Amino acid sequence: MSYTPTIGLEIHAELKTKSKMFCGCKNDPHEGAPNSHICPVCMAHPGTLPVPNEQAIEMVLMFGQAVGATIAEYSEFDRKNYFYPDIPKAYQISQYAFPFLTGGQLCGVDLTRVHLEEDTARSQHDKGDESLVDFNRAGVPLMELVTEPVIHDAKTAGQFAKELQLLLRTLGISDANMERGEMRVEANISVSKSVTEFGTKVEVKNLNSFKSVEGAIEYEINRQIELLENGDKIVQETRGWDENKSKTFTQRQKETAKDYRYFPDPDIPKISVGEYMPFSKTILAEKMPDLPNNKRVNYKNLGLTSDTIETVIADRELDTFMSKVVSSGDVNQSVVRLAGNYLTTDVSALVSTKERVLSELKPDHFVELMQMLSENKISSRVAKDLLPDMFGSGKMPSELAKERNLLQLSDAGSLEPLIKEIIAENQTVVEEYKSGKDVAIKFLIGQAMKKTKGAANPILLEELLVKSIIE
Ligand code: ADP
Ligand code: ZN
Ligand code: MG
Repeated sequence: MSYTPTIGLEIHAELKTKSKMFCGCKNDPHEGAPNSHICPVCMAHPGTLPVPNEQAIEMVLMFGQAVGATIAEYSEFDRKNYFYPDIPKAYQISQYAFPFLTGGQLCGVDLTRVHLEEDTARSQHDKGDESLVDFNRAGVPLMELVTEPVIHDAKTAGQFAKELQLLLRTLGISDANMERGEMRVEANISVSKSVTEFGTKVEVKNLNSFKSVEGAIEYEINRQIELLENGDKIVQETRGWDENKSKTFTQRQKETAKDYRYFPDPDIPKISVGEYMPFSKTILAEKMPDLPNNKRVNYKNLGLTSDTIETVIADRELDTFMSKVVSSGDVNQSVVRLAGNYLTTDVSALVSTKERVLSELKPDHFVELMQMLSENKISSRVAKDLLPDMFGSGKMPSELAKERNLLQLSDAGSLEPLIKEIIAENQTVVEEYKSGKDVAIKFLIGQAMKKTKGAANPILLEELLVKSIIE
């Protein structure tokens, strides 16, 4: 009988508010000199009082709307007590019994809850004999999301994390960059032979890439099965992920909620979400951007392939550009599809090598280029050649193409003189073709394309060349 793996995720995301969760310090944990965005509140000086950040709460409620969670009528902040140098109050302000959100779903995975808390300071242990603490991150708003134990394989866990990142970015509430620690994933993993009863779970931390998330889960599933097969027991513990060795390792025995002695923070007023907050569900709905799933459906109906769609919606700039393209009047499916292809390949290449900036490409110019291509007025080679010159250019592509004589020569009449020329200049190749070497025609087409700088229609060229040679 085989084992069923079970996985539940706990994911923290740093919210992109202007100021920290309970003080007015700048929320900027990744830039600036160490300990430059600090104050007595986030440094835990005695006698200071926390004031909840309204923008952070609004962001969590926005998230709740997006995933169909139940927004609490009543919410409160709790103290989670533990000692560590990066948490000088000796407690973290978090939420326990009354989180802002419960339930909801994201890409088929049921959510348990979402709550708000403050981030800890950042400890550095790699500076010689001393350990250093940077408080710029202390008090940054963190959204913690917990899923139900409903995931059964590593890949689905990775997909969930990716979809969450996309949603956080689409909502504009977190940059959710895993490498920078803006989104941190912890995976709870167990295996069991029984379908009705879970096995003992192990929690894996320090997963700072999607690859680590999937790798650690795979590894842990195999490790646990092996232990059970050898007649050993699983120890409930917290394990770390060693990226170089691709292995998990024991960190500590798992704390339970009791160890933290949670209790309501007496310094923070209770929050009656509906009454106290100065925004309503209608305002939240108005602020809601177009969500990834909706974008997928719309782009699909417009004829984009799913690969193109995923590339476009994962990139805010491309997505904004693409939405301008599709809303620019007379674009048909063929133009949209061409636009999608060019945007995710040639345009992206120019932008990613920093050769060009997307904001310098005018959507209507780009649309016209795609239209000319779709109507065979220019060849794809000409389109690729013109593209770099359209950034920052005041000229429409039709104007540029005309100026440079690049409009596709697509009528037999205007190509006749060229055909004669090519045949006269390449007699040996023509003879080769006549004697049965079919590929020789490609050479002749190439010569004609060169002379017209790629402007001639290659299909028509072939037709005319063959006809003239045979006659
Ligand atoms: P704890 O009290 O140890 O923090 P919770 O019940 O709060 O445990 O769950 C924490 C996370 O672990 C959740 O994401 C949940 O889905 C997941 N989880 C709970 N039990 C299991 C299990 N047996 N196997 C895998 N994941 C689990
Ligand atoms: Zn502060
Ligand atoms: Mg828990």
